[in-house]
Amino acid sequence: PFDVLIVGGGPAGAAAAVYAARKGIRTGIASERFGGQVLDTLGIENFISVKETEGPKFALALEEHVRNYDVDIMNLQRAKALKRGTGLIEVELESGATLKAKSVVISTGARWRNINVPGEKEFKNKGVAYCPHCDGPLFKGKRVAVIGGGNSGVEAAIDLAGIVKHVTLVEFDSKLRADEVLQRKLRSLPNVNVILNAQTTAITGDHTVNGLDYQDRATGDTRHVELEGVFVQIGLVPNTEWLKGSVDLSKYGEIVVDAKGQTSVPGVFAAGDATTVPFKQIIIAAGDGAKAALGAFDHLIRS
Ligand code: FAD
Repeated sequence: PFDVLIVGGGPAGAAAAVYAARKGIRTGIASERFGGQVLDTLGIENFISVKETEGPKFALALEEHVRNYDVDIMNLQRAKALKRGTGLIEVELESGATLKAKSVVISTGARWRNINVPGEKEFKNKGVAYCPHCDGPLFKGKRVAVIGGGNSGVEAAIDLAGIVKHVTLVEFDSKLRADEVLQRKLRSLPNVNVILNAQTTAITGDHTVNGLDYQDRATGDTRHVELEGVFVQIGLVPNTEWLKGSVDLSKYGEIVVDAKGQTSVPGVFAAGDATTVPFKQIIIAAGDGAKAALGAFDHLIRS
């Protein structure tokens, strides 16, 4: 069996693998797609000490760093269940195999919910964005829309209003769902307007985004807003469906972890976007992965 088995090969999993391997213990990492969300990222400018890089380049660097150590890398492997065996933890893979380990670090990440309208896919990274912390500065002086009036949408609109020229917040419902304190802050900003009852029907563009179409749900009229960017903020979904019933999850499906990354199951740790850790970012996920691996090591020397 592995001493530490990591499930998920994004920044959190890669950091966990390096930290575990450096303890000289038997380490494995199984992931569907080594690199994770970073593979879909164009530019990265906020990983401290790396002024700027590209997602695929960063993903390759993660893998090279892990390969520098004695780590069993199992790529293209999707986990489907976690079980407590006799003394060991078992991770079942969709391939049919079962991996056994004394401790596990889960770092299966998350995915942004798509709005699924024409233009979204075509203009991804060409005006369509999901992460204001990551891509906000790219729209300095430009007009953007934020789709979604929950907490993340309203937070994004407030954040972006300080960077971009103008923000249009588009909400499907007849009211915003964000906390009142956020809504109050939003209303105080001069360069934000809110459109309620609006169903986004298309993101338009040429080579890059030039507007957004929506249907006014009260009148049925179709309207167009001219702008240069669209931030889709209708939810970040943790990749934890496979853990339902085995590990405690929050109401959003995030793995509940303590300060050491320990989950509700002894010996099972978790890190990164899949967990309740606030703020989903590469540097945070990487730090979190290191922490969970050290948590797992601490667990091993005590049991
Ligand atoms: P992920 O990167 O999501 O990795 C999850 C890993 O788990 C993957 O290897 C995946 O294949 C694997 N996996 C999932 N399910 C299973 C399963 N059942 N079995 C086995 N493996 C599984 N952050 C920044 O800091 N700066 C940026 O500029 C930035 N830009 C971004 C741009 C885009 C378009 C996106 C989508 C995100 C961006 N982010 C950025 C956010 C950042 O990518 C994430 O916070 C970070 O990747 C989270 O790392 P993670 O290791 O927790 O999860």
